[in-house]
Amino acid sequence: MLSAMEPAMPTFHHPAEELPICAEVDVLVVGGGPAGVAAAFSAARLGARTLVVEQFNCLGGVATAGGHGHICLFSSYGNPVWGTDELVVGGIPYEMAVRVAEAGYGTFDRRNADFEVEGMKLVLERMAEECGVRLLYHTFFVRTLVEDGKAVGAVVQNKGGRQVILARRIVDCTGDGDVAASAGCPFEQGNSEGQCQPVTLMFQIGGIDIERIRAYQREQADNKLTATWKRAQEAGDMRPFQSVVMGWWWSATRPDQLGVNFTHITGVDTTKAEQLTAATIEGRRQAVETIRIYRTYIPGMESCYLISTPPTVGLRESRRILGDYLLNKEDLMAEREFPDSIGYGSFFIDIHNTKGIGMDTRTVRPHNGFKYQIPWRVQLPRGIENLTTAGRCVSLTHEALGSVRVMPQCGILGQAAGTASALSLARGCTPRALPVTELQASLRQQGCILDAADVVRVNAALPPRAAVPVNCPAHLPRCA
Ligand SMILES: Cc1cc2nc3c(=O)[nH]c(=O)nc-3n(C[C@H](O)[C@H](O)[C@H](O)COP(=O)(O)OP(=O)(O)OC[C@H]3O[C@@H](n4cnc5c(N)ncnc54)[C@H](O)[C@@H]3O)c2cc1C
Repeated sequence: MLSAMEPAMPTFHHPAEELPICAEVDVLVVGGGPAGVAAAFSAARLGARTLVVEQFNCLGGVATAGGHGHICLFSSYGNPVWGTDELVVGGIPYEMAVRVAEAGYGTFDRRNADFEVEGMKLVLERMAEECGVRLLYHTFFVRTLVEDGKAVGAVVQNKGGRQVILARRIVDCTGDGDVAASAGCPFEQGNSEGQCQPVTLMFQIGGIDIERIRAYQREQADNKLTATWKRAQEAGDMRPFQSVVMGWWWSATRPDQLGVNFTHITGVDTTKAEQLTAATIEGRRQAVETIRIYRTYIPGMESCYLISTPPTVGLRESRRILGDYLLNKEDLMAEREFPDSIGYGSFFIDIHNTKGIGMDTRTVRPHNGFKYQIPWRVQLPRGIENLTTAGRCVSLTHEALGSVRVMPQCGILGQAAGTASALSLARGCTPRALPVTELQASLRQQGCILDAADVVRVNAALPPRAAVPVNCPAHLPRCA
């Protein structure tokens, strides 16, 4: 629906400016999503002066500003996506899920976390405060400063104007790889035809009766309710923008509300503001239409109403920054082990149709117990030092991204990058030159799960706290 071709823009010569230096830090984390918070918290806990620059007014990325109150998967894969009793993700993502549940904002069964996004915002800010991480909201990354092949800082923009942040290490957690791309690092974008996964504007609805909705899903023997949307479209009640429920996220702490993953906009280059604007407007239009359809077709939703659309459309894919290793689908399907593992991925290869509605034929649902290791080298962008990537912009093929992109994995990638940044500063080497065994030892100490020996068995019922990894270093108090 959105035009890929754009005319070349005319240019204007802007004279060089003297820019004020607003901060000098050890570790600059650009982007405060699941990757960014884990990078920042781990670096700060290891003693690095750490600053997060974030364009919105909260931490959490898709989990908050994207309106998506569901994180999966902390265990190995279990059909369809609800997980097994084998916990494969610890560390800061695990801690986020425990703390949001303990604070009364959601639930966490050691496989999936469901929560209120406002609660997650509060929990993450509390964690940042405890770690001593500085936050700079309402600030947009502009350009990477590179000297002699090393990243040395960034130009940022906010209401105070254009400013410089000097940093000894930078972690690119923008999701889109903005920092690495600006530094000239090579990247790939989209599938073999250059098409990225569709974007989705999440929205929150109220006035629902979850028991009646679930009864209807059972009656239809299809949680995705494919036949219902087909019927609505054949009756002329629904434009054909979606064919399945991508996610109805419900938290016991807000029983009459639902987070809805249903809007679907293809052909969007998420690095272009014009296309993001058009996608957001279309997403909001689809959200309002969806409410009308739900009221008519879904028992338990007769009186539902729109509570909110989030500040940003949710982005599944854009730049993937090429690193020292390119993780691919074959690695995942072979459940390949890597000597430089920084953690496990376990989600299915979840690729939404890049051209039309529903899922892509390249989606793969693996066997129960599926898990694979992620090598540290995917976080080391080629041709630059002191810059690492974390989250969905690391070095992956389009297919591998389909699995690695979920939030627990973005979090463990963030924790690895933040830890490597701090340790490399202490050792006086670049993150690339840091012995990987040192990085791994520190991650284990922080409760991360790197290989089979670290994997924890959990029961269907919540295990006692002592049975699962506690990822706060001993010197830091845990929040009750
Ligand atoms: C609709 C949708 C549904 C999903 N469903 C699930 C699910 O059910 N479970 C799951 O675990 N995962 C899910 N995911 C995937 C997951 O949410 C994302 O892949 C993940 O959040 C990526 O983490 P990240 O930290 O790399 O990036 P993001 O979460 O995108 O965070 C990036 C942050 O960087 C900031 N930023 C970006 N550019 C700049 C800039 N230039 N200057 C300043 N700040 C900047 C952004 O504002 C944002 O806060 C879903 C994603 C989408 C879009």
